[in-house]
Formats: sequence, C-alpha cells, structure tokens
Amino acid sequence: MATARIGRYQVDIFSDGIFKLDGGQMFGVVPKVFWQKHKTPDEQNRISMDMSCLLIRDTDGHVVVVETGAGPKLTPRQREIWGIERPPALLDELKTRGVRPDEVSLVVNTHLHFDHSGGNTYRDGERVVAAFPRASYVFQRLEWADAMAPNERTRASYLPDDFGPLEAAGRLELVDDAVELLPGLRLDRIQGHTRGTQTVRITGGGETLFFSSDFMPDRHHLPLPWISAFDLYPLDTLEAKRAILARAVDERWLVAFTHDVPRFGRLTQRDGRLQYDEVD
Ligand SMILES: [Zn+2]
Repeated sequence: MATARIGRYQVDIFSDGIFKLDGGQMFGVVPKVFWQKHKTPDEQNRISMDMSCLLIRDTDGHVVVVETGAGPKLTPRQREIWGIERPPALLDELKTRGVRPDEVSLVVNTHLHFDHSGGNTYRDGERVVAAFPRASYVFQRLEWADAMAPNERTRASYLPDDFGPLEAAGRLELVDDAVELLPGLRLDRIQGHTRGTQTVRITGGGETLFFSSDFMPDRHHLPLPWISAFDLYPLDTLEAKRAILARAVDERWLVAFTHDVPRFGRLTQRDGRLQYDEVD
C-alpha cells in the first residue's frame, strides 16, 4: 500500500530515487556475512536504497511534504559517489498527484542530511532558492544548530545549500522536541541518528501511521542491535527502537521507513523476531 487514509489525512509515500551507501556503514557492528543475506552489495560494497518521501493532504487544504530526497544540486562527482543514476523524482511525483510546488504549505525534514533535504532548494542562476516558495520548512532546532555548525565527523552528510538559504528567505520554522504540527500530526525528536532527528506520527480514525527516520531506516534494521555506524548516539537509538517498536506492534501502527521500498506495512512478533509485512 502506498496511499493510506488516516482520519482527515490522505498520506502518499513515494521515492525520490535510489542512492547507494557502503553496506558496512549502514549495518554498524553487524558482520557482512549476516547483512549481505538481506542486501546484496555492489562491487564497491555499496547497497541500494530508496529515498522515501511522504505527501500528506488534509480536508482543510494543508499540503505537507516530508523529506525532499537528494535534490537537483549535486555535482557529477557527488552523484557518482552516492550512486544516483536518475534525476530526482520528487517534483514529478508531486505533479502526478496534482500538487504544484507553490501549493505545498509545510515541508518537514526528519533531519538535514543531503538525502533528506536536497530537494528543499534549487539553483536559479547564481542564487539558491526555496523549491516550495510558500511553504514553512519545519526542522528541529537542535538539528538546525548541528547542521549549521558541523564537526569533522558530521560534515560530509550536510550540504549547506540544502537548508542555509531558507533562513534568509524567511521560510524556517524551528521546533523543539514534540509538537503537534496539525491536528493529529505529531513530530517527535528522537536522539540517535543525530541529536535533532524527528519522526512523524499521524493519528486519526482509529489508525496510527508512523514514519521512522534514519535510526530505523528500513525493515532490516528492526533487530535491536542492527544500528547504522552513521548514528551519532547508537545507544540512544537502541532504547528508542526498543520503546517505539513495542508500541508499534501493540497498537498495530502502519509503519513506513526512510530508506525501504516506499510502502506502508505492519509489524508483528513471530517466532521471537519482528516481521514487517507490507499492506496491500
Ligand atoms: Zn538517510
């Protein structure tokens, strides 16, 4: 299932495209003999992943885009390193669903790494401008602070043109910890992948839909110790997964991931391990 109705919301999930990262980095302390059974690496040891985005529309005319993929500004060298072969699909996917960029009212990034925020802006001659000219861009304040002042460990993941120009354009909306962005649509800061990573949770009509973030980027990261080496706070990731996954099973949440195939599914506990089943 790629479209869900949650109370007053229609939620679509689609992919901006495929990119590739080193499989060892993605699976942290898990040995390759285990993870390569689930994800086959290429000759450079990279695994392919979707960059999933959400389109959330409600009955009052709010249009929310969550994640903007890798965007149109990468250099040929960056596209080669990250294995991006096709143009970014975000704007085409929105167009297919009848949404123009100037109709988007809110843009949410779970965090500001290049594969989540690249489509926030585009190059217009010498300038870098907002891709969604009327939208407020909603980030956690801590994520904004860390992205604007990266250190030697974090610098490679943040590309300043993806978010910096939004401040001068007056389009920033920084939030702290847990907020209800629209009725029944919550953002929660979960320290793990970064300090300022946020998840999206939508509740209504007896259903809850949860969009993770990179502390749980796909179904292969459901086992508690399968934690990416990119995570800056891996033990916080561990505890967040423990708490969130238990609730997701108990309350039968619809779950979608940042870097899995763009589908909604449910989690069940079977034979002592968590299984993810896509919903038709
Ligand atoms: Zn990512």
